[in-house]
Amino acid sequence: SSVQVALGSRSYDILIGADVIDSAGSVIRDILKNPRVAIITDDNVAKLHLKRLQASLTDAGIEHSAIIFPAGESSKSIATYGDLMNRLLDSRLQRDEALIALGGGVIGDLTGFAAATLRRGVDFIQIPTTLLSQVDSSVGGKTGINAPQGKNLIGAFYQPRMVLADISTLDTLPQRELLAGYAEVVKYGLLGDYQFFEWLETNGKKVIDGDAAARIYAVEQSVKAKARIVAEDEREGGIRALLNLGHTFGHALEAETGYGAHLNHGEAVAIGMIMATELSVRLGILESQDSGRIRAHFKSVGLPVAVPEIAGVNWTAENLLAHMRQDKKISGGKITLILLNAIGDAFSTNNIDEPDILSLLKQELQE
Ligand code: NAD
Ligand code: ZN
Repeated sequence: SSVQVALGSRSYDILIGADVIDSAGSVIRDILKNPRVAIITDDNVAKLHLKRLQASLTDAGIEHSAIIFPAGESSKSIATYGDLMNRLLDSRLQRDEALIALGGGVIGDLTGFAAATLRRGVDFIQIPTTLLSQVDSSVGGKTGINAPQGKNLIGAFYQPRMVLADISTLDTLPQRELLAGYAEVVKYGLLGDYQFFEWLETNGKKVIDGDAAARIYAVEQSVKAKARIVAEDEREGGIRALLNLGHTFGHALEAETGYGAHLNHGEAVAIGMIMATELSVRLGILESQDSGRIRAHFKSVGLPVAVPEIAGVNWTAENLLAHMRQDKKISGGKITLILLNAIGDAFSTNNIDEPDILSLLKQELQE
């Protein structure tokens, strides 16, 4: 199936299905200005899915080269970006040739930023291979790399020309990465689509366990939600902020653990969504029955609902609040939070007093 991101002359399609990689060549040939592309990927994904993509490009008469980086967040760096630019410029890549990002959010963000800045902009195509990148990072045009000073501090808004989400690639994804992406899937239900949340309550386990039809539906609904929000608010002046549900708390948890393997982004966001939910209940905005339902669903699929004990990490409410104050989503001196009126009805506020946030954090940390 296909979903469009409506952005005028920069509109693009997201194709979702099983084995779409195998027809990537014929699908993208029409939008290429030149039948030549450079594929950017990481060493995990290269072993598993690069040959399929190369075969389909060759079949469609598209010339291709591949640049492979080590898997992991460390490849979203200034050094890797510099290396990538050098290699692309050395390879005589002309202005009208395109880049293909084959991989998760790391490869997508890095490749998108390279495409945005190479000769002031070349076309790029996203082929996301993690659940997180299929439902979130490949859609919407946020590209970038990390700086020593913090995550995603160097970047650009730059939309891809097409997104190909092949759910068969998820068959090789480790369970923990799959769950991390699932946290973002539930987020779309919680922030704006009660019926989707209800569907996930019944079918979420199927999505996790590998049912292809359930995966296609979940990716499609997620992408539709993101596409709608991005079309309305490309540069995050308003409604796009709702996508940060669970993220202000989540980023604080990630920062406290040094973005390590102990707590990945999806896990941090899952706990963050629980915190936002509980805060909404404490403020008398959300019914406790609803927060119970959310918690029960997270538990039933295996998402964390509480801050885990991690060796070397001394969680305190004060430390987490300090990280939240530093988060870029702060405005007018107050922390911006996304809270819930109900399941499927989120809103943004910067009207929450810090003592209320602090006491919520103390409750969650059982301080
Ligand atoms: P990732 O790209 O690091 O992928 C996770 C791991 O899975 C890696 O080890 C990767 O090699 C491996 N992998 C990828 N596809 C696989 C497959 N099909 N089978 C087996 N292994 C596979 O991480 P991610 O979770 O996809 O993305 C996280 C990144 O996305 C972060 O840098 C985050 O900042 C960024 N992000 C960006 C946006 C945005 O709007 N641009 C939104 C959310 C997150
Ligand atoms: Zn996220």
